[in-house]
Amino acid sequence: MSETCIFCKIIKGAIPAKKIYEDEQVLAFHDIQPQTPVHALVIPKRHLASLDDLTVEDRVVAGHLLERVAHVARELGVAESGYRLIVNTREHGGQEVDHLHAHILGGRRVGPMVSR
Ligand code: 5GP
Ligand code: ZN
Repeated sequence: MSETCIFCKIIKGAIPAKKIYEDEQVLAFHDIQPQTPVHALVIPKRHLASLDDLTVEDRVVAGHLLERVAHVARELGVAESGYRLIVNTREHGGQEVDHLHAHILGGRRVGPMVSR
């Protein structure tokens, strides 16, 4: 848990979010500034700053998170039409919130993978 991290505050309930799914290890909620008709974020409850901060001890939670991403996508009705999963990592990846998160983007066809 980080005192300053905005996603840790969402986990604690200190700031509100539109939650989609929650269990002991992960939380899914709607992005506050959706880029697509469906835009959800799935995060581990343990504060990890980025994908690069995952360790071998986190592999069970990492696997669980990925499986829950698929579950959340089904719940949101985008599994059949498809979606894009993005994990922005550090500066060149465009990461703005330093708490590991996976974006689920769906509800329309998403454009080219990398904007130049
Ligand atoms: P990043 O650029 O770090 O991969 O993505 C961070 C995402 O978090 C952005 O899409 C942004 O809209 C979202 N976000 C930032 N602050 C909040 C917040 O307080 N609540 C919610 N629901 N989403 C947030
Ligand atoms: Zn955090």
